[in-house]
Amino acid sequence: MKRDDNYLDASPDIFDASKKFSKKEDLLLKRYQTLLQISNDGIHVIDKEGNIIEVNNAFCKMLGYTESEILKLSLFDIDAYFANEKLPKIIANLVDKSEIFQTKYRRKDGSLIDVEINASCVSFDGVNNIYASSIDITSRIKVNKIQTEALDHLNKIASRIPGVVFQYALRPDGSSFFPYASEGVREIYHVSPEDIINDASVVFNRIYKDDLEGVIQSINASAKNLSPWQYEYRVEDEDGTIRLLYGNSIPQKEQDGSILWHGFITDITMTKKAESQLSELSNRYRKLFDSHSSVMLLIDAESGNILDVNISALHFYGYSKEQLKNLNIADINCLNKKAIQHEMDLAVSEKRNFFMFKHKIANGEIKDVEVHSTPIMFNGIRMLFSVIHDISDRVKNEKLVKVYTEKLQRVNGDLDSFAYVASHDLKAPLNVVNGFLGLIHSKKESLSNETRDEYLRYIQGAVNQMKSLINDLLQFSRIGGNKDSFVMVDVNLLLLSIQDVLSETIQQNKATIAIQALPIISANKTLLNELFMNLIGNALKYHKSDQEILIEVGYQETTESHQFFVKDNGIGIATENFDKVFVMFRRLHTQTEFQGTGIGLALCKRIIEAHDGKIWVESDFGKGSTFYFTIKK
Ligand code: ADP
Repeated sequence: MKRDDNYLDASPDIFDASKKFSKKEDLLLKRYQTLLQISNDGIHVIDKEGNIIEVNNAFCKMLGYTESEILKLSLFDIDAYFANEKLPKIIANLVDKSEIFQTKYRRKDGSLIDVEINASCVSFDGVNNIYASSIDITSRIKVNKIQTEALDHLNKIASRIPGVVFQYALRPDGSSFFPYASEGVREIYHVSPEDIINDASVVFNRIYKDDLEGVIQSINASAKNLSPWQYEYRVEDEDGTIRLLYGNSIPQKEQDGSILWHGFITDITMTKKAESQLSELSNRYRKLFDSHSSVMLLIDAESGNILDVNISALHFYGYSKEQLKNLNIADINCLNKKAIQHEMDLAVSEKRNFFMFKHKIANGEIKDVEVHSTPIMFNGIRMLFSVIHDISDRVKNEKLVKVYTEKLQRVNGDLDSFAYVASHDLKAPLNVVNGFLGLIHSKKESLSNETRDEYLRYIQGAVNQMKSLINDLLQFSRIGGNKDSFVMVDVNLLLLSIQDVLSETIQQNKATIAIQALPIISANKTLLNELFMNLIGNALKYHKSDQEILIEVGYQETTESHQFFVKDNGIGIATENFDKVFVMFRRLHTQTEFQGTGIGLALCKRIIEAHDGKIWVESDFGKGSTFYFTIKK
């Protein structure tokens, strides 16, 4: 606002007038002017039209003007807050009273500053002027703004936290209050933050009477030692409901001697209830787990480490709890680590939850087990809960059943063969006997002595054939797998005695038998004798008439068994008959070519089976055969 220039001429009136003042008044004026100039507040005097008629240095500095510049201005030029039309009213309002208010002043460079004005109307020589002192409060406002924002943030954060976030202050006189309490205090103590901002006693009234003393003592101890305050206590609501609270805060000593805590209080009624229910539940499961008759293991699904075991597991595996919990499942399961991991992956992905394993127990024994595995998550660890059943007896029984079934099948097969031999092979010699006896009977006196003797020889031959058949069959039926009959047999001596028994045949056939060094083995001596007798007997029998017989008996040791062979240079066997020769009554020749019953090699096979071994033949047809057999060590 432009004001009339005469005003400046009129303003020094005060000072001109001073010339007329007495010395005392002069001194007073000087003091006033000194005070004006040394004041840090921006002092400005305004007449009732708003013109600035006097300023101090601090005011000039605050607005960036020189004194002469500023004295040409009015309040309308520098006030940037109140609308121009409002200002006269504000100035008028100040007459006869003082007021403190905030506004914005515009500096010479156009920037705005926040100022707090303390204005009073002073009448001097009958003229009313406004004496105003101003303070730059820009930084105070900034700080206030930051504080408000910070409080706003704190309130926002506190509202997300269950319970109340608080500042609690204990004054030196023992009274206390909550300088800050988040909105959560309404739920915790059923009071508003305002209710307790000056006095905390309403909160203490809420505390359950039996716990009050404890709370006070804990606060005092925390104040005395400046140690964190952590306390669980009960509050009683108006309706009688009792809730459990947990408070946690850190104290600090203030300059005025009071103690200020920063912390939070939460309602833990439900958590405690859930905790106790959970622990009751886990106790129940623990008991169930421990006392269950089934073997149970908890295994870390990733590492395979055994994490927990029940009492049945200790009995079954023969380890102490500590030992077992230090083992990995790979120390127990007989599969290799890779295979175990694969099986565990199947269980974790729930593709399979039933397994058959072999588990090694503490004394080295291997047990057949059936395992049911279920994946579970516990404390963030993926585990396999495995229930183990010992099925060793079942597996043993199943094996026995299998053996007996095989035996039964074999016996059945043998019975069939008996039926066959009874109907065919035994019938054939019987028919011969019958036929020749019929001839002798019908011809009677007309029969010459020579012819009768010839018929009787035929009969004798047929009877002998029947006898060998019956003997062979009897021997076959007697072979069993009873290991009790096993003794240590020196096979060298056995072969010497066989050579003795066969000496006549060997000599007649001009045969040579070469025998390598043979071992001493555990076997059924009678059966082993029978075996060699049959193989060497066949080697002596199945040869070309014009050929010198060479037989070789040898031995080779393998890791699991004793392997023998009987080799000849006889007629040999065609490849397609390699298996057939071991079938009962299966003969490759007629009785006229080579006499026999067809039982010998079937008998050998049965003897070898009783010794858990194998028998087979290799042959170059027409050049000779080698029969190999093994006897399990
Ligand atoms: P058998 O000698 O009483 O006829 P075997 O069971 O001992 O009955 O032999 C079955 C068949 O195997 C014989 O009929 C014969 O054809 C053949 N065989 C057995 N041993 C030999 C051998 N060393 N060389 C050639 N053929 C053989």
